[in-house]
Amino acid sequence: LLEVRDLFKTYGAGDTATRVLRGLSLHLEEGELAALLGPSGSGKSTLLTILGTLMKPTSGSYTMLGQDMIAANDAELTEFRNAHIGFVFQFHNLLPDFTALENVVFPSAVRAGRETPAARARGRDLLKRMGLADRIDYPTANLSGGQKQRVAVARALMNSPELVLADEPTGNLDRASATQVMELLSEINREEGTTFLISTHDEKIAAACQRQIVVVDGNVTG
Ligand code: ATP
Ligand code: MG
Repeated sequence: LLEVRDLFKTYGAGDTATRVLRGLSLHLEEGELAALLGPSGSGKSTLLTILGTLMKPTSGSYTMLGQDMIAANDAELTEFRNAHIGFVFQFHNLLPDFTALENVVFPSAVRAGRETPAARARGRDLLKRMGLADRIDYPTANLSGGQKQRVAVARALMNSPELVLADEPTGNLDRASATQVMELLSEINREEGTTFLISTHDEKIAAACQRQIVVVDGNVTG
């Protein structure tokens, strides 16, 4: 599905430069369910941001679905992202005045230029599977942090992307909700062949993944 080689990412310059990624290489196969592990500050979010094409590395190569993500311009990257990548980030940008269902369906509706009954049905189904059947028509402003996080997961899956990048998707959740979210991700992985890369500090979540990728000192070990 994707391959990065010799990725370097340095923030800032001179004495205050932070060299985060230092020659990191990684290959993800289609259909993998992988955990991204490593100490705080090791560069997990940085790597996810680069893989999500939201930021370019300082140097290195990146190809996804046979396309060169480094050479691509902003317009091409936006189109590519919308078509192929779903995000669950720590600070989920939900629209507070919109309901849970509207938040899930909205991004794909905007792209399609209309909201179809099939899209609404998938949105409802995903929210039900996230344990939010009774919150589908609530404004997201009135949801708990963990419920918002689950809406963000449903939104990322809405468009059936090939790749979902999740940055601590269960970070705000209690054990029961975290397990439920992880079970849904595994199910989607099995049923739809979606590739997942999930950064987490939770050993149980990591163990539920098929592969564990550990970032240490700007590189991948194990
Ligand atoms: P955590 O487990 O705490 O989420 P992480 O592995 O996701 O950590 P990153 O957020 O990728 O770590 O950060 C890696 C390093 O880069 C940290 O030392 C951080 O302070 C630094 N860093 C991240 N973003 C920036 C930025 N925009 N400007 C400067 N430094 C940054
Ligand atoms: Mg992080």
